[in-house]
Amino acid sequence: HVKSGTKNDYLVFNKTIESQSIERRLLESAMRTAIKENQFYLEYQPKLNIDTNQIIGMEALVRWHHPDLGTISPGKFIPLAEETGLIVPLGEWILIESCKQTKKWHDMGYSDLTVSVNVSVRQLEDPFFIDKVKNTLMKTKLNPKWLEFEVTESILADVNNIVGILREIRQLGIQISLDDFGTGYSSLSYIKNLPIDILKVDQSFVKDIHQNEESSAIVQAILKIADSIGLQVIAEGIELQEHVMKLSNDGCRFGQGYYFSRPLKVEAFEQFMESLLVTI
Ligand code: C2E
Ligand code: MG
Ligand code: MG
Ligand code: MG
Repeated sequence: HVKSGTKNDYLVFNKTIESQSIERRLLESAMRTAIKENQFYLEYQPKLNIDTNQIIGMEALVRWHHPDLGTISPGKFIPLAEETGLIVPLGEWILIESCKQTKKWHDMGYSDLTVSVNVSVRQLEDPFFIDKVKNTLMKTKLNPKWLEFEVTESILADVNNIVGILREIRQLGIQISLDDFGTGYSSLSYIKNLPIDILKVDQSFVKDIHQNEESSAIVQAILKIADSIGLQVIAEGIELQEHVMKLSNDGCRFGQGYYFSRPLKVEAFEQFMESLLVTI
């Protein structure tokens, strides 16, 4: 009995692995087609000065609409794109598209918008990355001071190779923010030596900041450290008025989240900016 049980377990286990890898291979080939057939598009989530309610910029977030499978979340396809290396061509498209759109908005008169683009480690490791960035800036005519890259603490796994790239990026005039800050394995000594400009407080701390002493204390500590080493702070995942009040009270000036707006398609984003103008 023990033997057959073991065998069955093995078969079940094996089948799961197999079906997982089939799903992954299907997704991977679907993703290759998707790039060619323009199934990807971007949404933009407003970032605001939470004291004045003024928009300061937006985060570009990739979306995949598959003709049969419907909408597939980035939480599902980004990790796969990273593993397969498809994030390199996809990320290149995301960068070009978001710079192009931002330049368009500047030319429409929304002149002070900074665009944040999520960049994966795989892209930073691409030997052509800096050239691609320079080309994009040249072609779209976007001033690099309006461009920001969001990187996660996963850069620390390969920090020796990546620090040089980050420096080059900053030398171009692009800002760098550390996304999902507080969830990874960054130690404060690392932060001091990393060429970054902004800490992005992870939404898990913001979620219960108004009712949990620990989250509140962590965010206060992040704000204090950031201030003392000259970094800006932005909070993500703001969903409630209470979040805004608490963060504002603690001295956090910038934020984004569903409370202000969900990520929006181009037209809806323009309507959002119009509505801000009307209320002022
Ligand atoms: P992230 O960069 O930390 O992006 C923030 C995520 O939180 C987004 O999910 C956003 O829609 C969501 N969010 C924003 N406000 C709120 C809120 O108030 N409450 C809650 N619960 N969630 C909120 P999304 O768009 O599903 O993206 C998930 C992750 O996928 C991103 O996390 C990022 O790591 C990755 N990703 C998305 N777009 C790109 C991209 O263009 N390139 C790369 N490399 N990664 C991307
Ligand atoms: Mg991000
Ligand atoms: Mg984040
Ligand atoms: Mg996050």
